Amino acid sequence: MTKYTPMIEQYLKIKAQHKDSFLFFRLGDFYELFFDDAVKAARELEITLTSRDGGGKERIPMCGVPHHSATNYIKNLVEKGYKVAICEQVEDPKEAKGVVKREVVQLITPGTVMDGVMLDEKENNYLASLANFDEDTYSIVYIDLSTGETSGALVTTGWAQVLNELYNRPVKEVIISPQLPELKRQSLIDRLNITISYGEQTELKASYDHLVERIDSKQIITGFSQLISYLEMTQKRALDHIKPLKVIELHQYLGLDMYSKRNLELTETIIKKTKKGSLLWVLDQTVTAMGARKLKSFLERPLLNQSAIEKRYQFVDGLMADYIQREELREHLKSIYDLERLCGRVAFGNVNARDLLQLKISLTKVPAIKEVLAKFSEIEIVNLSQALDPITDLKLLLEKSLADDPPLTIKEGNIIRDGFNEELDKYRDASRNGKQWIAELENQEKEATGIKSLKIGYNRIFGYYIEVTKANLHLLPEGKYERKQTLSNAERFITPELKEKENLILSAEEKSIELEYQLFLKLREQVLEYIPRLQKLADQISQLDVFQSFATISEQQGYCRPQLTTDGKVEIIKGRHPVVEKVMNDTTYVPNDVYLDQDNQILLITGPNMSGKSTYMRQVALIVIMAQIGCFVPADKAVLPIFDKIFTRIGASDDLVGGQSTFMVEMLEAKHALTYATKNSLILLDEIGRGTSTYDGMAIAQAIMEYVHDHIGAKTLFSTHYHELTSLSEQLTRLKNVHVRAEEFEGRVVFLHQIRKGPADKSYGIHVAKLAELPDVLIERANVILEQLEQNKQSEINTSQSDQLSFFVNEAVEQERPIEQSAVEKKLKSINIMELTPIEALNELYRLQQLLNKED
Ligand code: ADP
Repeated sequence: MTKYTPMIEQYLKIKAQHKDSFLFFRLGDFYELFFDDAVKAARELEITLTSRDGGGKERIPMCGVPHHSATNYIKNLVEKGYKVAICEQVEDPKEAKGVVKREVVQLITPGTVMDGVMLDEKENNYLASLANFDEDTYSIVYIDLSTGETSGALVTTGWAQVLNELYNRPVKEVIISPQLPELKRQSLIDRLNITISYGEQTELKASYDHLVERIDSKQIITGFSQLISYLEMTQKRALDHIKPLKVIELHQYLGLDMYSKRNLELTETIIKKTKKGSLLWVLDQTVTAMGARKLKSFLERPLLNQSAIEKRYQFVDGLMADYIQREELREHLKSIYDLERLCGRVAFGNVNARDLLQLKISLTKVPAIKEVLAKFSEIEIVNLSQALDPITDLKLLLEKSLADDPPLTIKEGNIIRDGFNEELDKYRDASRNGKQWIAELENQEKEATGIKSLKIGYNRIFGYYIEVTKANLHLLPEGKYERKQTLSNAERFITPELKEKENLILSAEEKSIELEYQLFLKLREQVLEYIPRLQKLADQISQLDVFQSFATISEQQGYCRPQLTTDGKVEIIKGRHPVVEKVMNDTTYVPNDVYLDQDNQILLITGPNMSGKSTYMRQVALIVIMAQIGCFVPADKAVLPIFDKIFTRIGASDDLVGGQSTFMVEMLEAKHALTYATKNSLILLDEIGRGTSTYDGMAIAQAIMEYVHDHIGAKTLFSTHYHELTSLSEQLTRLKNVHVRAEEFEGRVVFLHQIRKGPADKSYGIHVAKLAELPDVLIERANVILEQLEQNKQSEINTSQSDQLSFFVNEAVEQERPIEQSAVEKKLKSINIMELTPIEALNELYRLQQLLNKED
């Protein structure tokens, strides 16, 4: 065993309890990292790796960051998903016998950052606690520690929904139980790329009981207690701002799985992962950070409850009706500070006087907001005006107590206003009078000595002094002045009376700073009591901000108020894609209609590539989502049912994280839709079957449509470039063909982006190739091949149209199937692909290969 120095021994002991964190070990003015931590941190933070002697044979790798600039380094690590344990010296080094005592005082993890600079103000920072019960049942409890908001959901339909949920939020860190099976743990990392922490499912401490008073679900309470025990372990401080747990009844919100959320680019784009280009980007006209976060949470959970949705429309309508007042409201809202996060900081004890000043300014604005709201004609808005609590008592307290321009630190004084505290005023008077006295003394001395340049100054080492230039020294009388310091061209002196006054001034200043600090702590305590009222106000203001954001964008872009129906009818007149429209110039976007009802359940959309099929489909889904979050929609008229779920298989089919093949992702997404969709759902399938060979692809596409038509009844938009599929309308009565109009002009194809009834008459693939400027010879050759293929196909079609599937499959099989089926083929045929999970598929593949090897 290596014998290390006592300090390194101490380090190792602490590190053993924080194996999965970087241990920032305080040594004087630095946080030092040692051993592997040092090597890794030096690489991640791009700082110099050094080494030190630690008593062992080899030098110990070491790197460090200055304590005063540690925040940025910590932020850097935490943003990368790491955890950082802050280990401080907990006794005065001067008093320590032996090694200074050190303890981990806080664990900073991606889900628990509190520091303002580490947080994105427009994003919630969610930590989740996941408790598992059986194969299908899980509870997920969320907290945003910076705002104290907590919520919990019970998942009863298996692991896929857990992933959907965690993806939906999205979550930075998840606490799991060590009993969660390894495969699932791994899928959290692979699919969601989040930090994993471990917690214990202990009994909830009684002091937190009031937060779960209204919760019936034992499973959710278990998840909550796992969360609390983790927070206590990592934060080691008050958790007073945690709000009572709210239950999220998942079935009360529009079901949107992770694929759809990603495919529809609701909050970020698929490829670049930026907000710009997403629906959120278009809708976000909020002016407060709280509003921006609230909008995001609206998008996470579109509603199903008609009256709740209508109520939101009423707000938007009312706000739209009066532009001038709305602008006035926006202006007032702009000066509202982030009250939610402020509450978090107050509870955590890291609020400063500037924060409280901002709070005061925000509260001063509330009466003005109430006044503007009262002027609107919409009754909901007037009601909100009455419901807003200006928390006048707190405002008065802050007005009375806080100075106008307090410093950032709370230990330098100048925080508390004159007249707030008598004792403080006395000290201040003493210090101010003392300074006045000194100014007078300077004048007296000048007169007495006749030295015009004589001055009284102050420095930290000598205190107050009288300074006389060397040229004037001879004018000073003997005896009265005591020499203290000699400079190159002057001398500094003190007198007993100056020192006496100095004592008075300094002790008054010292006392007043200390008293101000105490008064500030007390003030903070008082603010703590207002947290529930502040949180309520914050919630009302942030909703108001979202509604004004909806109203602003709806007016700018000419959106209309949806009419919600219960008969399942969809009628969108002149609908537009909100993002494409905004990116392009409004004038060039071609609006389109959508009509779906009992008899028009499935729209089969044909048209050349790049003609606008997928834009059309996305447009429908986005309009539905916008309607169900309470926003107006980009259309001249929109009659919509309330959809229970939306499923999509659209667009870029990359699944780089999961490392799955395009076709597998297609099939998984389709399976997901087919398993969970109901007749009240919306399904969008874009070019299903594209990822495999033509016959396969068509066969699967057709079979899926038949299944949706006969077994599910969900409203479905299905785009394809397989022309052959358009004849399906003859067999499936509720399937209708539409196509995107394109016209040929001088041998080129012109996309009109207009949706029309009936199938497209032609495939334009080659024209697109031409657009892409492939070589002319190649294009000509492709035209020849196409002609031949079309002739062949015509004869195929003529031979068999009886069996729906045989149309595509049998012809292929005729030509290719050997007379005797091999074991592999038999096995392959018997597999029901739609029933397989990816892992099972891999296993099947493995077995098939084994079988083939045997046959060889
Ligand atoms: P497809 O799915 O048919 O291949 P997309 O929906 O991807 O085609 O559309 C291709 C491009 O056409 C889009 O990027 C968009 O710029 C443009 N586009 C689509 N629909 C419209 C429309 N209604 N009005 C104007 N431009 C459109």
